[in-house]
Amino acid sequence: MKKLLTCFTLLCSLFVINSFSQDKPEWNTIFAKINQEVLSNSKAYSSLKQATETIGHRLTGSANGKKAEEYAYNLLKSYGYTNLRYQPFEVESWSRGSLAVTIGPDAKNLQTIKSVSLAHSPVKVDLNLEVVDMGNGLEEDYLSNPGKVKDKIALVYLGVLPGSKEGTKSLHRSEKTAIAIKYGAKGIIVINTAPRGILLTGTASVTGKLIPIPAVCVGKEDGMQLKEKLGMGKLYSHIAMTNFSGLIKARNVVATIKGKMLSNEKIVVGGHLDSWDLATGAIDNGIGSFSVLDMARTFKVLNLQPERTVEFVMFMGEEEGLLGSKAYVAAAVKDKSINQLRYMLNYDMTNDPKGYATTAEESKELFQAIGSIAHSLDTAFKNQFRSGAGLHSDHEPFMLRGVPTGGGTGGGLPRNVLDCYHADCDVFTLVDEKGMKNTVRFSSMLLYGIADATEIKAKHFTDEETRNFLLKNNLKEPLQIAGEWRWKE
Ligand SMILES: [Zn+2]
Repeated sequence: MKKLLTCFTLLCSLFVINSFSQDKPEWNTIFAKINQEVLSNSKAYSSLKQATETIGHRLTGSANGKKAEEYAYNLLKSYGYTNLRYQPFEVESWSRGSLAVTIGPDAKNLQTIKSVSLAHSPVKVDLNLEVVDMGNGLEEDYLSNPGKVKDKIALVYLGVLPGSKEGTKSLHRSEKTAIAIKYGAKGIIVINTAPRGILLTGTASVTGKLIPIPAVCVGKEDGMQLKEKLGMGKLYSHIAMTNFSGLIKARNVVATIKGKMLSNEKIVVGGHLDSWDLATGAIDNGIGSFSVLDMARTFKVLNLQPERTVEFVMFMGEEEGLLGSKAYVAAAVKDKSINQLRYMLNYDMTNDPKGYATTAEESKELFQAIGSIAHSLDTAFKNQFRSGAGLHSDHEPFMLRGVPTGGGTGGGLPRNVLDCYHADCDVFTLVDEKGMKNTVRFSSMLLYGIADATEIKAKHFTDEETRNFLLKNNLKEPLQIAGEWRWKE
């Protein structure tokens, strides 16, 4: 009986999958061509290598950032894109200046500690204050003693400390900084979670604007030692920093393939091209953005033209607060093209995906059908499916406007690579060429399938539906902290 049942369910799932690919039998051929083209001629790895060697980091608003925008534009042009444009936007940009942090039992016994500024720290700071241990830096760490950090410097762990209460959920460094400010801290020292003294940077501002207090990151080992010392006595710190902050122009780069019968409907696929300046942003987000550039190359070289219009977008300003994707969405809301947007696929640090992810559970059938063809071409692709919603990358502004978003899932980056996130070790030698090729070929198949499908079940949410969706995914609090929760209650 049980055996009969399993055969029956297997038959059903094969029927569902085949019924979709039956709907578009030509997908089998097209996906096989994509597969072959990428395996033989992918330029993702080599173009990232060249950009890394000739440009270096790609910090938004810097000379390097401008070169990176031009590099992407010229690359897409060399692939044959004529429907190609810059999308300029103006942002408050931040870049680091000097930093000196010393710590000790009193003003006379201060020792230098290796540190790096977190973005959007003030332009000029020179303060000497007591340091207090605020544990994980979550609301509950302050509620137990609200006055503890007032007019002092908070020492906070970036993640969740070992031994913390079961189920403790961390918050983004910008959210932890916002909480420290709320309780009156005059500075924050964030202890990195990565070992070997690795220093991380990144924004400490939930709004993308300057914050009123200095925020710095110290290495894990140094930070844990400070916690120990604070267990035995008081510590004081002198933080002296200078930074640049001012309005700058940056540009997203947008290349378009007009659709056939459903050309008024649009699928956006993108990744942020910008990076931090401590290294060359090989993993964040060289692998994602240059995979998207190679998806664009693949579509052009195979002359693919699905039913719907496809836009390949290189976003800038992601690290400074999703500034490029916010500018893109703001423009789309203004000219109402947001209503044409059927899906947004985002590739941020995606490597070697084993399946597809989405915010729209109702896309499962379509994604699984697309994935089953990919799996038939290479069983290394497991056709995993994940639905859910998160924040802090370029899909966020689209999701907040009711657009279904998606991308890859199930891939991964080894620990030593993840430890270099936003750090001075995020360099090209970390890049996995085969992983990039897999990102390009399996994501190109997803993109083509969504853009060419007879029907996309995932709805473009109304304002009310978007609110309910975000509530269901527990995103109200982090969005409120970020000032992005636009609903009254
Ligand atoms: Zn990133």
